[in-house]
Amino acid sequence: MSTLYVIGTPIGNLGDITLRALEVLKSVDYVLCEDTRVTAKLLHKYEISKPTISYHSHSGLAKVDHIISLLREEKNLALVSDAGTPGISDPGSLLVSQVKDALGDEVKIVAVPGPSALVSALSISGAPSSDFLFLGFLPHKKGRETLFREIADSTRTVAFYESPHRIEKALASLEKHFKESGTEERKIVVARELTKVFEECVSGTATELMFHFANHQDTVRGEFVVTVFPR
Ligand code: SAM
Repeated sequence: MSTLYVIGTPIGNLGDITLRALEVLKSVDYVLCEDTRVTAKLLHKYEISKPTISYHSHSGLAKVDHIISLLREEKNLALVSDAGTPGISDPGSLLVSQVKDALGDEVKIVAVPGPSALVSALSISGAPSSDFLFLGFLPHKKGRETLFREIADSTRTVAFYESPHRIEKALASLEKHFKESGTEERKIVVARELTKVFEECVSGTATELMFHFANHQDTVRGEFVVTVFPR
């Protein structure tokens, strides 16, 4: 029986890889990666020489069929994404679902746990996390304001991923909806560039954080996770 290993990889610092992830990467026949150039850096650092196959959000059915045929031929594959845990707001979940549908019990799907930006950000936010809501990337247009209203009403911690292009707008929307719901003192934690050289984690109300980023425009770049405390 073939195995598809779903491997968590670093979210910035290449040292954040598990011993087991390295062993598995060394043992498989192929590594499926979102961007082969990104994964090449990781494999190079650990002197792992493996054929890679790109698999990303624009990969068509022919690519999926090829991956399924490799598994049918009893090849063992590792699935990694550009950063973090495959399937958490990246195309990995679709591939896992297609493989399960096509091969059922003929393939073993094995998690090799590693970092995730979501869990890393939550772990340093101080927000209650026994029960939280994760929204991934918010839609850019349709439904965006409705989600901000839901976040404002939420009695659970809410976390989402945001890009540098929209982080200030997101904070402005949160400020607006918090004011409307009478919770403008709600705490927000913005974790940026976790595990990287310019890593930072700033906390405050929406108004304070808007002020912070307006005054530190050089930090409106990179990758962000926003965690909102419950109301
Ligand atoms: N599967 C990944 C995971 O488990 O973390 C997430 C993939 S998603 C396509 C990429 C988003 O994760 C980024 O846009 C950003 O919001 C967040 N992210 C990834 N790396 C990060 C980092 N080092 N610091 C903060 N956020 C990060």
